[in-house]
Amino acid sequence: MSSPDAAFVASLQARAEAFNRKLFGNRLPLANVRFLPSAAVRQLGSVRANADRSAFVMRVARLLEGPDGDRPVDGSRFNLRDEVLVHELVHVEQFISAPDEPPHGPWFRERMRAIGARPRACPTVQLAAPGRWLYRCPAGHEVTRLRRYGRRRVSCRRCDPRAYNPNHRLRLVGEITSAGGAE
Ligand SMILES: [Zn+2]
Ligand SMILES: [Zn+2]
Repeated sequence: MSSPDAAFVASLQARAEAFNRKLFGNRLPLANVRFLPSAAVRQLGSVRANADRSAFVMRVARLLEGPDGDRPVDGSRFNLRDEVLVHELVHVEQFISAPDEPPHGPWFRERMRAIGARPRACPTVQLAAPGRWLYRCPAGHEVTRLRRYGRRRVSCRRCDPRAYNPNHRLRLVGEITSAGGAE
């Protein structure tokens, strides 16, 4: 695991623990949740449980650690970064407390409403331009490309329109998938 991912996972865990205290009465078994970064862009989060619901794997899009995570979410008191995490934590709570209820059914929506999160649709990131691969420069500009750059080094043209500049090198954020929102 590279260090940016380790920092992202540590941040997810710390925020999940704070939300567990503030919103869930410390009842979520976070020690049994494995947090993983994902490269997905449109599916911002997901959580899976094993058969007896004693272990969970939560994936959260790396995209959310950037400026996209700061975006407000309609109908929520949380920004997109926290909204996706809270959404997945409510799924964990439901796996334990109401496993027979449908995943985004009345039980789920009522919990989301009580917490101040968006009760119904899962948030998605709307990209300005279509493209299969999302890149980001250190200043936060996003570039979508139909083809992957591969090993080519490319820098952000908005930051340096003249030539390749290693200070503004574009980094691959991930492949844009067709799945929508947080699961
Ligand atoms: Zn830039
Ligand atoms: Zn969901």
